[in-house]
Amino acid sequence: MAGIMAGKRGLIMGLANDKSIAWGIAKACADQGAELAFSYQGDALKKRVDPLAASVGSDIVLPCDVGEGASIDGLFDALADRWDRLDFVVHAIGFSDKNELRGRYLETSLDNFLKTMNISVYSFTAVMQRAEKMMTQGGSALTLTYYGAEKVMPHYNVMGLAKAALECSVQYLAEDLGRDGIRVNAISAGTIKTLAASGIGDFRYILKWNEYNSPLRRTVTIDEVGQSAMYLLSDLSSAVTGTIHHVDAGYHVVGMKNVDAPDM
Ligand code: NAD
Repeated sequence: MAGIMAGKRGLIMGLANDKSIAWGIAKACADQGAELAFSYQGDALKKRVDPLAASVGSDIVLPCDVGEGASIDGLFDALADRWDRLDFVVHAIGFSDKNELRGRYLETSLDNFLKTMNISVYSFTAVMQRAEKMMTQGGSALTLTYYGAEKVMPHYNVMGLAKAALECSVQYLAEDLGRDGIRVNAISAGTIKTLAASGIGDFRYILKWNEYNSPLRRTVTIDEVGQSAMYLLSDLSSAVTGTIHHVDAGYHVVGMKNVDAPDM
């Protein structure tokens, strides 16, 4: 069955397991007919990513540590051996030392600050430098951000700064790549229990708080983020670029605790 994404080829970066936001996005795109390639970080994840990729009809599973420029080059060289063109890319990657995702932001070390910025922010730009060359018929790029870029969230600390910089880079990349028909957007996802999120202090409390206080009175799923991502990656959003699209059950519009919320 031809779908909205039929004929499109996309690279999904940041798949760790079937709880990953990248997996929700991959499924939504594959359901609509997209052809997919995946990158993974480190051998330990390969055995998880291989069967997931196979389940959506992909045999292109390539290693890439975005902390190393040569590794990103290797990924795009290997991809170019298989595909002559790329239509979309998903960057669902973030990292910070979990010892600094609790307590005070003030205690952030220089080492972790720089590593967090490199992996969580610069890598998107580094990926787009390579992806641009393969997006010969235009394209769509998507990264993942969080409300901690806009407001102070407990324990999010240096990741909040990283997401703010990532959101700003979406705008600059949108401007640089727009003339080639390449769109760049981000989804600001609500809190979801994933491997990366579990490293954040008091994560379960934050999840409950979102459930009790978002306008929809619930959290969001990777499938819901996937559907919104599919829209941004498809031609349905052909005039949309440089945006931060919130998929968070409306949490970002809330000014104070819901009066009916249970005590926590
Ligand atoms: P996840 O743990 O499933 O995915 C994070 C991915 O980042 C993993 O696949 C990991 O391998 C990859 N990664 C980390 N360092 C890397 C490196 N050096 N090279 C290559 N890959 C690397 O968690 P997730 O929650 O699905 O995270 C995906 C994105 O969504 C992240 O940017 C995260 O900040 C963002 N996000 C998550 C939430 C949430 O509540 N889970 C909310 C908003 C935004």
